[in-house]
Amino acid sequence: MNLVKLNTIDREKLPCKELEKKNIEVEVLRLDKIHHIISGNKWFKLKYYLEEVKKGSYHSVLTFGGAYSNHIVATAFTGQAMGLESIGIIRGEHAKTLSPTLIEAVKYGMRLIFISREQYKKKHEIPEKFKEAFIIPEGGAGPQGVRGASGIMDLFPSESYTHILCAVGTGTTLAGLTAAAAPGLKCIGISVLKGMHGTNLVSDYHFGGYAKKNQELLDFMNSFYAETGIPTDFVYTGKLFYAALDLLRKDFFPSGSKLLLIHSGGLQGNLSLPKGMLHY
Ligand SMILES: *Cc1c(COP(=O)(O)O)cnc(C)c1O
Repeated sequence: MNLVKLNTIDREKLPCKELEKKNIEVEVLRLDKIHHIISGNKWFKLKYYLEEVKKGSYHSVLTFGGAYSNHIVATAFTGQAMGLESIGIIRGEHAKTLSPTLIEAVKYGMRLIFISREQYKKKHEIPEKFKEAFIIPEGGAGPQGVRGASGIMDLFPSESYTHILCAVGTGTTLAGLTAAAAPGLKCIGISVLKGMHGTNLVSDYHFGGYAKKNQELLDFMNSFYAETGIPTDFVYTGKLFYAALDLLRKDFFPSGSKLLLIHSGGLQGNLSLPKGMLHY
């Protein structure tokens, strides 16, 4: 499956005088550039599930997500590219107008089934009705997702870095990176959900919870883009870069550190913001 071009992935140095003073280098792994639709970590998490789909001669894939889920779009697109039918079980009642994310998913042939938040909690019971479909867990979580995410480590010489930072939703990407990390390399996750705690997790940058935002975050995203040319999304990567720079300012990383920040994509999520809020 050659849907994405992994040989084009860049690592970009963050230009910053403040960092030079602290003797710290920061680079960004631009996974957002691997594909204009299946951007970022979702491709890695889907990869081994899709291999099983192919081997098992399934005709359809079924997965789960919210109305703004990057995973839903990525699954719809890759499903269509592989000639599969795709079914998305969507959390929450059918709104009068579909979110931009779900409009995209429908464009790529996904059949949407809306269930209430109550039903969604018991979503593992739903697939009974779709016995023919291959089930991919929400967000591509699960062992195949972790294995796929550990492939991100193959994209760069990991011994060149002291710290790797990524945004954390289900934690699948962080688990994959941690599993593949060379000894001594610290993998740190910035949680985008409220109330998430654990080793290797920094929990102070969720901005109120999943997909919550405030003016400070939006202002940061705009100025970060103006300074670096790197677009971020308000659900995941905006919080990651905000956190990384704040932690740097607070001397969280010792002098001599070399950081790699994983830009995990997800820029389509910004389509749910009112026009003009972001200057890119
Ligand atoms: C889904 C997603 C994440 C979170 O990945 P997990 O493996 O669920 O922790 C991070 N960044 C972006 C852009 C995403 O779409």
